[in-house]
Order: sequence, then C-alpha cells, then structure tokens
Amino acid sequence: LINLKDVSQTYGTGGAAVHVLKGADLTVSKGELVALVAPSGAGKSTLLHICGLLERPTGGAVTVVDQATEKLTDRQRTLLRRHRIGYVYQFHHLLPEFSAIENVMMPQFIAGANEDKAKARSIELLEIMGIAHRATHRPAELSGGEQQRVAIARAAANGPSLILADEPTGNLDPATSDKVFDALSALVKEHEAGCIIATHNHDLARKADRVVTIVDGKVTPAEL
Ligand code: ATP
Ligand code: MG
Repeated sequence: LINLKDVSQTYGTGGAAVHVLKGADLTVSKGELVALVAPSGAGKSTLLHICGLLERPTGGAVTVVDQATEKLTDRQRTLLRRHRIGYVYQFHHLLPEFSAIENVMMPQFIAGANEDKAKARSIELLEIMGIAHRATHRPAELSGGEQQRVAIARAAANGPSLILADEPTGNLDPATSDKVFDALSALVKEHEAGCIIATHNHDLARKADRVVTIVDGKVTPAEL
C-alpha cells in the first residue's frame, strides 16, 4: 500500500540545511497498522507529510495507495489525497466556523457525496469516536481531546485506503487514548486500510501490528 524507497528530505540549503530523512525505506501493507515512535525532531511528521502527499521529498521513490507518485501532477496528487487518504494533523486544523458534524461532512461533500449520506456517515463516525453528543458544537466549544476525536472521524469520512495519524492521542488522558486508538484500529481493520500512527505513547504503540522508529534519518524496527 505504501512503499518508500531511499527517501530523503532536506530543508533549507547550504550551511543551514537540515537533513531530516536520509535514505528512508518503509513498506506498509493493506490492513496493517504501523506505529511510528521517535524523539521530537526525528522526522515523524516529515515522513507522514511525504506519505500523505503533502510534501515532495528531495530524493527517493514514493508509492502511495499502490501508485507511483513521482510522475503525478499536482492535481492528480490532490485527487489521490482527497479520495484515498485520511489525515489526522498533529495540530488538528478543524474548520473553526463549522460544527463537529459539519467538519466530518466536509470531505465527503468535496468527494461528491450527497447531504443525507454524508450526514448518516458522519453521525456513525462520531458515535464510534464517542462524541456524537457534541455533534453540533464548534471546535472552540470542544475540549482538545474532543477536537482530536472529531479530526479522526473526519479522516475516516471517505473510507480511505490509508490513514495517517500524527499524534492523534496527544491531548488525551490514558483511558480516552486507549479508546480512540482502539476505534482507529477497528476502522483500519474493517476497511482493510493501512495506517501509520505517530505517537509518543509506548503502551499504544505496542498494540500496533508493528513498531518502527527513525534513527539518523532512516526507518528501522523498534523494540519497546
Ligand atoms: P515532534 O515529535 O516534535 O512532532 P517530529 O519527529 O514530527 O517531531 P518533524 O516535524 O518531522 O519532527 O521535524 C523534523 C526536523 O525537521 C526538525 O528538526 C524540524 O525543525 C525540521 N523541519 C520540519 N519542517 C521543516 C520546514 N518546513 N523547514 C525547515 N525545517 C523543518
Ligand atoms: Mg511531529
């Protein structure tokens, strides 16, 4: 589903250049949930941005949802992202003017769903995330953890083949983290999606199918 081959990412140039990824390889299969655990600044978000087609790497080959991405136009990348990839941002980016349920409906509208269908699907997802009772609240009226759960529901809205979640439980207490992780995991298994979840929570990471880390710009298996 994902295949990164010899991927590098360098920010800046000359003496100010930061080499974040240096020949990173990674494969993720259908239905597989991979936890990505690495220290702050190691390149987790960078790796997820590349897998989510939000950034182009400076080198290497990126296959996402079984499509080689190098020759895709920006438009094709956008469509692939919109229809096949669900992304939970580290700093969640819910639309502040819209309610929780509207935030979950939005990507479905963009993908062409009608209102009744989008609404039913959104309610279902908010229920799975345990926040259906907050459906009409705007993000500012939700706690940080509730906002994160809306963001996960939104990422799952279009039944993506790939879910990329950047510290989705960062603001949650342990019990809620566990619940949210299990819900995400169930969605991944149910849809046979692939998933990478970046997390600092080792207890959650151990529940993934596989744990990887980033050492010196390369992805390697992690022992927790
Ligand atoms: P955290 O756990 O704190 O979220 P991370 O592992 O997600 O960390 P990244 O956000 O991938 O780390 O950043 C990796 C490194 O790349 C950091 O040193 C960061 O300063 C640098 N970096 C990230 N994005 C950019 C950018 N757009 N321009 C310049 N440097 C960047
Ligand atoms: Mg990060």
